Amino acid sequence: MENSKGRKRVVLLGATGSIGESALKVACDIPERMEIVGLAAKSNAQKLAEAANEVRPESVCLVDETRIDVLRRALDYQPRIFSGEVGLLEIACLTNADMVLVAIVGTAGLRPALAAIEAGKDLAVASKEILVMAGEIVMREARENSVHVLPVDSEHNAIFQCLEGKRRTSNIQHPTSNPFGAERSAFDVSDVRRIILTASGGPFRETPRKDFDSITAEQALKHPTWNMGPKITIDSATLFNKGLEMIEAHWLFGVEMDRVEVVIHPQSIVHSMVEFADGSTLAQLSYSNMRFPIQYAVTWPDRVPNTLPPLDFSKLSKLEFFTPRYDDFPAMNLARRAGETGGTLPAVMNAANEIAVAAFLNRQVRFPDIWRIVEEVMNRHAPVAHPDLDAILQADQWARNEAQGCVKSRNR
Ligand code: NAD
Ligand code: MG
Repeated sequence: MENSKGRKRVVLLGATGSIGESALKVACDIPERMEIVGLAAKSNAQKLAEAANEVRPESVCLVDETRIDVLRRALDYQPRIFSGEVGLLEIACLTNADMVLVAIVGTAGLRPALAAIEAGKDLAVASKEILVMAGEIVMREARENSVHVLPVDSEHNAIFQCLEGKRRTSNIQHPTSNPFGAERSAFDVSDVRRIILTASGGPFRETPRKDFDSITAEQALKHPTWNMGPKITIDSATLFNKGLEMIEAHWLFGVEMDRVEVVIHPQSIVHSMVEFADGSTLAQLSYSNMRFPIQYAVTWPDRVPNTLPPLDFSKLSKLEFFTPRYDDFPAMNLARRAGETGGTLPAVMNAANEIAVAAFLNRQVRFPDIWRIVEEVMNRHAPVAHPDLDAILQADQWARNEAQGCVKSRNR
């Protein structure tokens, strides 16, 4: 990107969420490197206006059209205002933006992400769901439009940092033998033995399985180390978050699923690791604050000073690592199966999970039902290989309906 040494002009989709808030803090912390030129959110007009009044982007988008008047009244200047899902696509393509940061929870970020890529914007991706659903398409479009996909998810940002020396220098990328489509990644991962994703283990890391049925939404919403939106917090409790991240890593770095592993690391200081063919492992460490990965995605390949605290090793008493309880938390095995099968199965897993999480938060199903519902829906699906966007969206909708059926049958 021509502008890489100067200020990156960023459109932030999902401005009112947890990642959105952290991204706004990064923009305030490094104003000489990051300028917010667009802000978008779904329905919280007041919060969107407050953010806009502070960073004063030239464009603002609220998806919920019924709340536009609230937004207008709460703004103390006159940005260009977009609305609706069409507005979200438009703000993702702003002429004077260099990068679009997609921090929309769930799958609603997919179309704007693809629109941004087609408009030649670099993509900073927090919304892992879009890579799980349509990783093949997103990465192919990015390649064809010569834009960078920069991971914001802390694990993938860590891996991205560890693989920095492995970035292919030429645009001519070489096919690997991957059977289901991660054929040309931006990285040469031929001497990567394993990618090791760290997981905090969530609030139920040590909870015996027999107690899972009585887990409440309030308990599941208390994450031990990260402060995040409700959907990803439940995903962290079921470990579907890690499952989604396994598939996300596969697409971002072009590694097969069997080279992606998970280790439980309760302190959330080591954000992930890469083990190479010679047995050496690189890791990235920092305190658990999403401002670190967001900043690196924006300033990459540069590193710039900020106001974040560096690690104080004298106060880090221990870093622990454990093997996950795969049988008790089946999300990781389901994700491995989805990622290995490929095609529409990851989108189906993701959509069923979204419905099951919402049902759990609505007190309609119990905590372990989330895994059961996802597995039931996956078992009923006949995956389509190398799906186009329509096939993916169809599978997504089918899985939502099936999962709703599973929720209903548990409420009879
Ligand atoms: P959140 O629930 O706090 O915020 C969600 C944001 O998305 C809000 O701004 C909301 O307005 C917007 N949004 C929701 N539906 C929308 C729609 N249909 N159209 C437009 N905007 C919509 O979520 P979060 O925790 O900030 O997570 C956002 C994404 O980042 C998720 O995909 C999550 O998995 C990922 N992520 C989050 C964290 C974290 O620390 N919070 C870490 C890694 C990855
Ligand atoms: Mg993560």
